[in-house]
Formats: sequence, structure tokens, C-alpha cells
Amino acid sequence: MKKLGKYSIGMGDRFGHQGSAQLNTIIEAGKKGIEITPVWNKSNREHNIIGTEPGDVRKEADAATKKAGFDKPYFVDADHINLDTVDRFLDSSDFFTIDVASYIGKKAGDDEIKKFVSGAEKYSGVLNIPGIKKSLSVAKRQIIDIAEKYLFAAIKAGETYRKIEKIKGKDNFATEVSMDEVPVPQTPVELFFILKMLGEEKIPVQTIAPKFSGRFNKGVDYVGDPEKFAEEFESDLMVIDFAVKEFGLPDNLKMSIHSGSDKFAIYPYIGSITKKHNKGFHLKTAGTTWLEEVIGLAESGGKALEFVKEVYTSSLEKVEELCAPYADVIDINISKLPSSKEVAEWNGKKFASSLRNVPGIPDFNPNMRQLIHVAYKMAAVRMDEYFKLLEANEKTVTQCVFENMYNRHVCRLFDIK
Ligand SMILES: [Zn+2]
Repeated sequence: MKKLGKYSIGMGDRFGHQGSAQLNTIIEAGKKGIEITPVWNKSNREHNIIGTEPGDVRKEADAATKKAGFDKPYFVDADHINLDTVDRFLDSSDFFTIDVASYIGKKAGDDEIKKFVSGAEKYSGVLNIPGIKKSLSVAKRQIIDIAEKYLFAAIKAGETYRKIEKIKGKDNFATEVSMDEVPVPQTPVELFFILKMLGEEKIPVQTIAPKFSGRFNKGVDYVGDPEKFAEEFESDLMVIDFAVKEFGLPDNLKMSIHSGSDKFAIYPYIGSITKKHNKGFHLKTAGTTWLEEVIGLAESGGKALEFVKEVYTSSLEKVEELCAPYADVIDINISKLPSSKEVAEWNGKKFASSLRNVPGIPDFNPNMRQLIHVAYKMAAVRMDEYFKLLEANEKTVTQCVFENMYNRHVCRLFDIK
């Protein structure tokens, strides 16, 4: 099994120009004594919208690491794939995020459910998990409900895993299972039984991405009570620790936090709780790099600023279409979006500070930021023009990408002063 390091960060790069700037954040953290494994991730959905192929991400990751002389492990993540979409990722990826969200709630066969429940019954009553603050109680009926809701998804995850394993070979990739893109969070009790299911499917899962309470909207801060998140996160962590031993899962199994960019309110908790229990984590970010490209182009002024204003104006006309694929992970108040007429008057500085997520800056508009986050399609349809602008303003743009990933993400997560 290709093993992920203790700390890893998933970095998306929609347009494939920022691999080096992203890698520089990892190198900079390394200089501070924090070893992070870089993972370049891109989902099938994003490839389809932009018109790229998984092989492009591999090329980018290989080129960036080679150029920097980076000799530590790195991965290319086939993000949010399932049985229907995994095929075209098999060549170039060595990290697979098996997304079971669309299978959750579909019922497995009666015999399969019966078999699972009879093996899981011994955990009914009080579930004593070492390190957990509140002991969990499990009713037998609850085990049946959980099996009816999740067993089919786990079986599908197993099928997907084995499909990948057959082509790639057992030791040549890392496996994640994700279930974050659903409306309702999983409780620690549910997570416990889901891990049992994954153990029975013999999936060597190294990262698991549950849906947590609160909102994890794309590119903006956590919405919810960070203390409550901390409690849930710690319970999940203890559940994972226990499940690893109980169900024979890989001992480096760790939590993956999706839609992980800009969750400033919870980073200190993720950092301190994992440290307290000597655990790692995987933080998955994606669109925040594209947002920094837009910010960098706005700051560059001239044609670059005109271009990003046009991207914004065209995205205003397509709000619903752009938001639809991301319904569970964005929350835009349309009435708070500036009109294109208003934005036409803005200079680059005003445009950039409206988008840049620096808490406390009065210009910052999280609604506009979320809309631009999902509006990369508007640049994808003018790709040649966009790439020329990125290249002409490379220095400003890469500086924005680096600063965002390093100062606002890595430093907060690892408490680097
Ligand atoms: Zn996700």
C-alpha cells in the first residue's frame, strides 16, 4: 500500500498553472519543520467543466516537483470518483477518493443487511470508546437503520476499490472514502459502523471524509459553532482510532476534511486536537487557487482586470446553473451580490479586496467569493485568453496563490507564527 504521510494537503488547481506556487507552500512549511505531503486533486466534475484530462494533473504534479527538486512523496488524487467515473483516472492517479454519497440511502439486499447486523449486534448498548468524552449508546434498531442507510454504499465502495486494485496493483495507490456531499452529517456512531462496513469490504482506507455538522461552504469560513465542531471532530477521531484496531483497518487511517479551504474558525481545533492525540489529517482544498488567480489578475489591472470583471458579469447571469452542482457546499445570498454596473466602476484593488478572504476587511464579500468559486466555467470557455493573462501576470498571481495557501492555511493549521 502506498502510504500517505501524517499530514497531507489536497490542492486543486483548476487550470493547471499553479503547481509550483502550491508546492512552494509545502516546501516553506518543511523549512519550519512541518512535513506535509502534497496531493494534487481534481474531480471528474471539474475535468468535465473545464475540458481537461486526469493525465494533465499528473503532468503538472510531475513537472512542479521535478522543477523544485522535491524528492518526497506526492500524490495525484482522482477526487470524488465512483464506479461510473473511475476509468479515465486509472492511468494517472495514485490516490482515489471513492465517493459513496450517491449510494447512501439505497438499501442493500436483505441478506446482506441481516449478516451485517448480526455481526454488529455485539456493539449495541453502551459503546465504550477510549478517549471519547461522552460514551455513545447504540440501540439495536439503530444498527439496522445504519445498515439500511449505508451498507449498500460500503459495498459499492468495495466494488470500486477492487476495480482500481485490479488495474493498479494493491501497493500502488492510496484510498479515501468520502461521504461529505450529502445533506445530513454522519454521527460518530454512524461513522463507527461505516468503518466496520469498510473493514468487512477489506478496503485499505487511509483517509475518510465524513460530513461534519455546520456548513462547509466553498472558499469561505466555517458556518456553525466551532466548539461543537471540535467536540464532534474529537469524537470522530477517537472512533477512527478504535475502529482501526477493532476492524483491521490501516493504522494510518486519518480524517479527511473536504471543502477545507478557508475554514479559519476551525483550523486551530483541527491542529490542536490532532496534536493532542498524535494523529494526522488530510485537508482538501480545491477552488481557492482559482480564486487567487482571479484576485491576482484583478490586482494586475488593465486587460486582466477587465477579464475578471467579465467573468463576474457572465457568472451573475448564470447563478443558478453554476451553483447547481454545488448545492450542498455553497450558500449565496443573491441580494448581496454587487451588480455588474457597480463592479464596472471598481478598480483592481477594490475587486481584489472584495474577493480576498481576510476576516475583518469591510470590502470582503463572501457571497461574491462563493459565486466566483463556482464560476471557473466562465474562464474555461475563454481558455486561451485566460492562459495568456495568467502568463503575462504570473508574478502577481503566483504570489497570491502562495500567500493564500501558506499564510492563511498552513500557518493557521500548524500554528506557525
Ligand atoms: Zn468533497
